[in-house]
Amino acid sequence: MLWTVAVVVVARDFIPTAPQLSFDLPTARVVGVYLVFTALLAVLGPILPGRTYEGSVLADGSRLLYKCNGLIVTLFVVALLAAGTFLRVFDPAWIANHFSSLFLTANLFAVGLSAYLFVMGRLARSNHRLAPSLWWDFVMGSELNPFVLGVNVKFFSYRPAMAGWLLVNLSFLCKQYQLVGYVTTRMALYQGMTAWYILDYFVNEPKMLSTWDIMAEKFGLMLVWGDYVFIVFAFSIQNFFLVDDRTPISPALVLVSLACFALGFVVFRGANSQKHCFKRDPSATIWGKPAVAVGGKLLVSGFWGLARHMNYTGDLLLALSFCLPCGFTSSLPYFYLIYLLLLTVHREQRDEERCSHKYKQLWDAYCRHVPYRMVPFIY
Ligand code: NDP
Repeated sequence: MLWTVAVVVVARDFIPTAPQLSFDLPTARVVGVYLVFTALLAVLGPILPGRTYEGSVLADGSRLLYKCNGLIVTLFVVALLAAGTFLRVFDPAWIANHFSSLFLTANLFAVGLSAYLFVMGRLARSNHRLAPSLWWDFVMGSELNPFVLGVNVKFFSYRPAMAGWLLVNLSFLCKQYQLVGYVTTRMALYQGMTAWYILDYFVNEPKMLSTWDIMAEKFGLMLVWGDYVFIVFAFSIQNFFLVDDRTPISPALVLVSLACFALGFVVFRGANSQKHCFKRDPSATIWGKPAVAVGGKLLVSGFWGLARHMNYTGDLLLALSFCLPCGFTSSLPYFYLIYLLLLTVHREQRDEERCSHKYKQLWDAYCRHVPYRMVPFIY
């Protein structure tokens, strides 16, 4: 919740180019639109076509099934809004104009959903060992894979997160066009790179099934709030700096942003894909050779032989590229980068602890083989 206060303070008091931002309380219309958007994503998932994949093996030996059609669902919603704009029944800047009330609505929704999951989780586990503290259960979650109305809500929640971020961005893009009369290079750069990242997420949705969040994290306020609030409203903060900024960007900064994005993308997607392919097929080919793994379990080929968390490093480079188009007049657009740096360093330490506990001497051998955590020869 501290993050909420921080974002509100940042947005209200420090963002110089956000004159159109006022902190309105959620209206019935805003709440209605938010709920319809979330419900639409939930309904479209089962209806629209898509391939179904098996998740990793659970503690009881079973596997859940995941229909990975987030791309088509998101494109459908974008097409719907584009049609609404074309037919003049929807103002494409509506989301940008209602940013603050949507943000507050999303907070209420996240707290409500977390409370519901908490109560349902406690009821379901009433005969089992209870968590050490109620607060811990509420924040970190009490169930690994909670279902609400038949929807696997942890996997589903990435959709309102990533599609929501895309829609906020597109709305600010349209807002800039309305305000300025054209789209600036800075805005186009930010929009192009983030849209690529978001759509790539959906293209690679099946690879989420081998991530830590899906396999090991319970679903409580921390992840719920991250999905429904933080990704949508904090990752998009650069828009406030870009929407009315007509200052030309230097060609050098364009090139640096694009280079950073390209390198980040290759590392991020490459590392995540290599691990995913290896988990699915330990004899997979990586960089033209059969995968090599310590004890047959811990991959040391490809990016996983350069450092133990190169996927985080790639993500950080991508985050930097999303901030660079805002220039250097304020540190606030770098909020996403700073947040991700804190998150990944904290996460890599928690993950190392978990892996050390799980793999024991094998993990020590892996650490000897690959001594760097995130940046080869540095960290
Ligand atoms: P990882 O995909 O790195 O998953 C870590 C797990 O992978 C470990 O617990 C272990 O699990 C397995 N593993 C670790 N090393 C190896 C190895 N050498 N060989 C085989 N398996 C290994 O982490 P996350 O799930 O946290 O992140 C996935 C991606 O999502 C990252 O790129 C991250 O940057 C991104 N992300 C982005 C966020 C954002 O806010 N932008 C937030 C969170 C994540 P096992 O027990 O299965 O072996």
